[in-house]
Amino acid sequence: MTRLNSDIVICGAGMAGIAAAYHLAVRHGVKNITLVDERQPLTLTSDKGTAAYRNWWPGPDDTMVRFMNRSIDLLETLAQESDNCFQLNRRGYVFLTAEPYQIPIMKRTATEISALGAGPIREHPGSLPYTPSPSQRFDNLPTGADLLLSPDLIRQQFPFVTEDSVAALHVRRCGWLDPLRLGKWLLDQAQAHGVRLLRAQVTGVSVINNRVQRVQLHTGDQINTNTFVIAAGPYLKRVGAMLGLDLPIFNELHGKIALRDDLGIVPPDAPLMFWNDPVALAWTAAERAQLEAKDETRWLLDAFPAGVHFRPRTDGHTHVLLVIWTYDIKPQEPVWPPQFDRDYPEVLIRGLARMIPGLSAYFGRGREAYVDGGYYCKTAENRPLIGPLPIQGAYIIGALSGYGIMASQAAGELLATHITGGTLPGYASHLRLERYEDAAYQSLMANWDVSSGQL
Ligand SMILES: Cc1cc2nc3c(=O)[nH]c(=O)nc-3n(C[C@H](O)[C@H](O)[C@H](O)COP(=O)(O)OP(=O)(O)OC[C@H]3O[C@@H](n4cnc5c(N)ncnc54)[C@H](O)[C@@H]3O)c2cc1C
Repeated sequence: MTRLNSDIVICGAGMAGIAAAYHLAVRHGVKNITLVDERQPLTLTSDKGTAAYRNWWPGPDDTMVRFMNRSIDLLETLAQESDNCFQLNRRGYVFLTAEPYQIPIMKRTATEISALGAGPIREHPGSLPYTPSPSQRFDNLPTGADLLLSPDLIRQQFPFVTEDSVAALHVRRCGWLDPLRLGKWLLDQAQAHGVRLLRAQVTGVSVINNRVQRVQLHTGDQINTNTFVIAAGPYLKRVGAMLGLDLPIFNELHGKIALRDDLGIVPPDAPLMFWNDPVALAWTAAERAQLEAKDETRWLLDAFPAGVHFRPRTDGHTHVLLVIWTYDIKPQEPVWPPQFDRDYPEVLIRGLARMIPGLSAYFGRGREAYVDGGYYCKTAENRPLIGPLPIQGAYIIGALSGYGIMASQAAGELLATHITGGTLPGYASHLRLERYEDAAYQSLMANWDVSSGQL
């Protein structure tokens, strides 16, 4: 058995653990950090999503807007420092509806989020012209959102969407990036500043007199340390239990498909687009009869909830649509590799065809799509857990749900500030575990929007 010594041990080299290591080592100059992961870095959840970002978050207060604005500020700085090696863009998210009753709801929600600090709302037609987003740049662009209320203007900007669209909300401080390139760049920087990466499973943590003492690895080796950071993604609960803690989190399975758009139905420079209305999938009469006949397929005739969305991904040759639609969000234990319903890709193609009718050309080709995904590790109110735990020297950075890439920089910075000392930002108290002991926070939670910003 080998005994190592480390000032800080971080368990998990997903985006959260790597961002924590980067902020501690590079921004705060902390030496002697060990990042431990049983897998290749970034291969459990952090490479499975659409890696999109937005500063557009509902209340009940401005915590998430301020937290994400800070994270996007940091991502933009990193993009500048790294010659944008991780391809940050700012194409925006476009929310669409074909239901006139949705227009006042869209306006009200936009006004509320704008008031939390996400930027101004511009209505079109209106006093200012609508300016589309560039496909690549991210600097000197508008914030807030543009509300397009003319179907002609919507079709002029997005000719591939359904003709019955009546409103589009183009949210501007949003886009996406390449998470593997970002993570690798951060990890290289951290390692250049002395962070050690160790391939091992953390199997136990010794706590004596309520203080972290040692971390045990599956090899039998041990690391003496007095600071242990849990960054274990969907395994937060399991690692928390090693410290005797029952962390208030759960996991939801979220899948994504990569659909080749060989017919070029959607232009490669499109933004992320989200359909705001419930959808009944399009089937022929013969298909309907077939689905109706079997118990296990009848559900495909039901109405599906709003929320199918996509963003394009292209390497210049292959043009792909990354599509997500989570219509089943029961909490579950993480199982690896995750299993997805065999009909999932076909459902997504048919659902997305409600927004982009040209995609009907791919009906029946769901099996050709590549399916993967992972777990959103979440708290009840869909806010992360970042900060100290009730055991001295133990910290957490996790429960990053479906926003861990976009939030990674503010999360890493916040965790590093907790560990090294320094002035905490105003949102810090609403993201640490202790918030659940605060009566004012509890009463805020009582009136929480159940979706809590989840797309
Ligand atoms: C389908 C999908 C779409 C998404 N879309 C987006 C998006 O558009 N934008 C966005 O910002 N986010 C998105 N996300 C969410 C984002 O991917 C996650 O929030 C983020 O990757 C979480 O990072 P993490 O480091 O906490 O977890 P992970 O990436 O899961 O990393 C945790 C690491 O801990 C390691 N580990 C666990 N236990 C141990 C142990 N005992 N010993 C050693 N190592 C251990 C694991 O091996 C793993 O490498 C999406 C997620 C999914 C599934």
